[in-house]
Amino acid sequence: MKRWVWLIALSIAACSASAPLPAVTEVGSADTNPLSTIAPAQQPPSTTARDERAAERLDMVESQLAERDIADENVLEAMRQVPRHRFVPDDVVDLAYGDSALPIGYGQTISQPYIVGLMSQALDVDPGDKVLEIGTGSGYQAAVLAAMGCQVYTMEIIPELAERATNTLDALGYDATVANADGYFGWEDQAPFDGIIVTAAPDHVPQPLIDQLAPDAALVIPVGPIGAVQTMWKFSVNRTGEVTGENLGGVMFVPFTRSGE
Ligand code: SAH
Repeated sequence: MKRWVWLIALSIAACSASAPLPAVTEVGSADTNPLSTIAPAQQPPSTTARDERAAERLDMVESQLAERDIADENVLEAMRQVPRHRFVPDDVVDLAYGDSALPIGYGQTISQPYIVGLMSQALDVDPGDKVLEIGTGSGYQAAVLAAMGCQVYTMEIIPELAERATNTLDALGYDATVANADGYFGWEDQAPFDGIIVTAAPDHVPQPLIDQLAPDAALVIPVGPIGAVQTMWKFSVNRTGEVTGENLGGVMFVPFTRSGE
């Protein structure tokens, strides 16, 4: 069942944009990505959508993901199923299975398929886990997480994109709860989460997102300056509250914006 949730952006007084990165211990590089093999996807899209462009999609998964370093079978199977071409505007539909990000309007982009695979794998979640995404955009990443069997909550700051993604996810039968809100504060009512994924780049890690992680859960987030190369981080908080960060490599994302900007 689709729920359309409007959250009221909270006061920004408590969290100035100059807050530093949390103290982290770097525990590895992209080469040390944890891999897992878990149950196959649980939420297939409608048969029609799954049949469309299936050959292009299988080729994308093989050549852009599996032949690189995406080995989590639940991620690969979800991305074999989710019809990426249904999440992009008509004028770029023929580029939907290419190895790149694409414009989705309002100055935003749908991430490169490899980056979706990398972040989904890094989250290290199992079917049934509760996941929060900040930056719904087209809804594609949310659909991939839903197809992996996760309970998905996703927040988008641009109302038109939140509404369009809600409609796309609904039409294809993916169960994800979309909120039109500034995701800086996370989704307190639904916390804690077994994984949090941020698909726009802030210049620092929002502390509320760290606070809303379940023990041993991961926050996967690009952090860095606008318009330059950012670093993809995987932060985890252990049971004693210690934050560790794993550097997953350089990336370029659209900026994480704040309500009122
Ligand atoms: N995950 C998306 C790609 C997102 S692009 C997909 O699969 O298509 C990044 C998105 O983050 C944009 O739509 C942008 O509007 C949104 N965004 C930026 N700052 C945000 C914030 N503070 N809260 C919620 N969404 C934000």
